[in-house]
Amino acid sequence: MMDDTFSLYDLKVEVVATEKPMVCNHQAGDYFTLVGENLSFPAGQTFPLYSLAAILPLLPAKQRDTHPHDWMTTDAEIACPDPHCGGRFRITRTGRTEFHHADVTAVPLPDGGTS
Ligand SMILES: [Zn+2]
Repeated sequence: MMDDTFSLYDLKVEVVATEKPMVCNHQAGDYFTLVGENLSFPAGQTFPLYSLAAILPLLPAKQRDTHPHDWMTTDAEIACPDPHCGGRFRITRTGRTEFHHADVTAVPLPDGGTS
């Protein structure tokens, strides 16, 4: 049986307040989670499109192992893209989930998944 497993960090993205008021439709404590390719939002909670668009490009990198000296490892808060908004978004690695290569892509492993 070939081993084609790999793991990704599970992420939580939470709205945090600053001294500057928030002007978007996000409030401190609002959050969503990411496991693999799936975003989950608490029932009934919305999340602004423009904020989400700014956060999304960072999430695949945060899901993966990064060098301890890499800013992607150390920096966890990003600013709201609205320059008038004081909202920040904290990305936390909450755990790890294991996946099988064959379950997430149709592209075969070059070595058949034995390494
Ligand atoms: Zn905002």
